Amino acid sequence: MPKKEFREFICSPYCMFYKSGEKEALTCQAAQVVDSLVHTGRIDRESVGAVQKDSGLWAMHRNALRQAVCRHCAFLAEDCDFQSDCPSDDLEPCGGFIVLAFLKEYGLIDERAMEEVQ
Ligand code: SF4
Repeated sequence: MPKKEFREFICSPYCMFYKSGEKEALTCQAAQVVDSLVHTGRIDRESVGAVQKDSGLWAMHRNALRQAVCRHCAFLAEDCDFQSDCPSDDLEPCGGFIVLAFLKEYGLIDERAMEEVQ
């Protein structure tokens, strides 16, 4: 799936860091995983469109998604405040993380599915 397309259904609706029209050489790992889950038919695109932002889920799945996804992300070491050692309470993760946390909470994906597409 072209980068432009997944930015439209993952980054634009869910990621507070996304700026339309700005060229970003790197893509966060979570968005790539969501894209691959859709591309391989493990989840459908309508499920992504039904995701609701829920900060409780982000905290709940922070460690599990760090192990399954974020540890492979190019932004983890320096740029990602959400996965830093001392994140403030009002920080949002990237859009891909928001989507993965929601899908995981509702049993639509698990760690194995995420690992299989990386
Ligand atoms: S939450 Fe941070 S480390 Fe995890 S995928 Fe998103 S940008 Fe990368």
